[in-house]
Amino acid sequence: MKKTTTRYYCDICDKDVDTQHTLDREIQAVFHTEQNEGRTTKPYLSMVKIDICENCLGAILKDGKVLNASGAMGYNKYWFNEEKISTSDTEHLKWIYGRLIRYGENERVDYMVRLKKIIDKYEEE
Ligand SMILES: [Zn+2]
Repeated sequence: MKKTTTRYYCDICDKDVDTQHTLDREIQAVFHTEQNEGRTTKPYLSMVKIDICENCLGAILKDGKVLNASGAMGYNKYWFNEEKISTSDTEHLKWIYGRLIRYGENERVDYMVRLKKIIDKYEEE
């Protein structure tokens, strides 16, 4: 006996969509291309029908993330804006950095240098 099962994947992150109610959702997206030939345009709002996992739906509904889209003829790519690191996140990284040094970590080892670079980068902004 041959059984065929259909699997659905989130159009945003590509993970399995395991619950039916997240399939075929109509969601407003910010498009960065016109949708016939996919040429870059000024961003505009457009409704899209996508399969979306619980995590990505939560990112929109709970975290207030904006869904971005680009593509042509219904073949679209979706993504969320990269999250900006908050002041409290930077403070937290500084706290970890300071704590590592206090407990004897060498500030010249590669990952400490990198951590310091990240902290400095976000403090500039
Ligand atoms: Zn997803």
